[in-house]
Amino acid sequence: MTRLLHRSPAFPPPVAAESSGILIRTADGRAIIDAAGGAAVSCLGHGHPAVIAAIREQVGKLAYVHSGAFSSAPAEELAECLVGHEPGGLSHAYFVSSGSEACEGAFKLARQYFLEVGQPGRTHFIARRQSYHGNTLGALAAGGNAGRRAPYAPLLPESFSHVSAPNAYRRPAGTSEADFVDVLEAELEAEFQRLGPASVAGFVAETVIGATAGAMPAPAGYLAMARRLCDRHGALLILDEVMCGMGRTGTTHAWEQDGASPDLQTIAKGLGGGYQPIAAVLMREPIFAAIRAGSGRLWHGHTYMNHPVACAAALAVQRTIASEGLLDRVQAMGERLSQRLNARFGNHPHVGDIRGRGLIQAIELVSDRAAKEPFDPALRLNERVKQAAFDLGLACYPSGGTVDGVRGDHVLLAPPYIVTAEEIDRIVEILGEAVDLAL
Ligand code: PLP
Repeated sequence: MTRLLHRSPAFPPPVAAESSGILIRTADGRAIIDAAGGAAVSCLGHGHPAVIAAIREQVGKLAYVHSGAFSSAPAEELAECLVGHEPGGLSHAYFVSSGSEACEGAFKLARQYFLEVGQPGRTHFIARRQSYHGNTLGALAAGGNAGRRAPYAPLLPESFSHVSAPNAYRRPAGTSEADFVDVLEAELEAEFQRLGPASVAGFVAETVIGATAGAMPAPAGYLAMARRLCDRHGALLILDEVMCGMGRTGTTHAWEQDGASPDLQTIAKGLGGGYQPIAAVLMREPIFAAIRAGSGRLWHGHTYMNHPVACAAALAVQRTIASEGLLDRVQAMGERLSQRLNARFGNHPHVGDIRGRGLIQAIELVSDRAAKEPFDPALRLNERVKQAAFDLGLACYPSGGTVDGVRGDHVLLAPPYIVTAEEIDRIVEILGEAVDLAL
């Protein structure tokens, strides 16, 4: 009997006792390959000595100060490490404890910015139906997943509306990717016009869709199109890279591969690699400048904002990614993962799509490959594959849900950046067995 409220109280998960590299050991003696890092969190794997040392040192020196009264060296250094010299003109950062908080913070910062610059009428955000931005009420209102939203619908703020996501796999039959981007542009422009362009504060998008779409990058030209429309209408482009950012796709920011950069950006999982709960809001200079010259203070804040130990951990993670050349490794291992997934599932009758970028990749399960027919949602096949894989010693992440009435059953892989070629091969081999066992 456990006193802990688990996500599935009737089926408490096994107790994880220790971990190192890409392995998690359970209290009952099993060794599980961590092929998803929870959901793309553990970018350095487990037990990295440089991060452990940095946390020990910081907690001994200065564990906590309130950000309203003090700054700290690790918070200053982490901001310095992340912005000011990056492509895209991001100039300032602040730190919170979760991706949901970062998304809430970005929306509130957009609102504050428009109040500071005398445009109080910009109160609306356009987001996408296939999206996840977190579980707090504002972030949930931005997200599109019907199942996650449904129980809380009466509580959700109404300042978010939704357009189609760039789901190339399910684009209209006979449409090229370029034509599909044109269709999405027309829809987004129509939504700006429906709302009145001067009422829109921002367009919110995951650069690579994670939890609801299983590692789905946008078709070429899509983000540049979104950037163009935001510029035309004076709205901010807000990119949520909580899951796909900080090296996961082979570049520090996933948007670097899309030819467009945001005004506001959220990052989280790969920032601290799971060593501490930490997330960030990154912003362009004009947003910072408007606050500094305007009211002179950020109206939003949390008790654990810019937490010194969390910042020290994240700084050690980011320095390790740089010193160990892990972005190159993500690219090389990402290619191998893609090749292996295609070799194993390329002709599988129930794998409709294999997609992703770098070390965030997924397969989409369908009952009929040619017709792209989803499985009956009641079967919850992604959960069944997850369980079968777990029983075989592999932890992967079941992404998906029902969007626009279409069930998505995806299995997401996001192994640590330190994963070896042999480990990639083993991960795909076990996943193959699990899919065949579960279907
Ligand atoms: N945004 C994206 C893209 C995510 O994938 C997630 C979590 O999976 C979140 C926001 C919310 O992050 P958190 O669970 O840390 O609140």
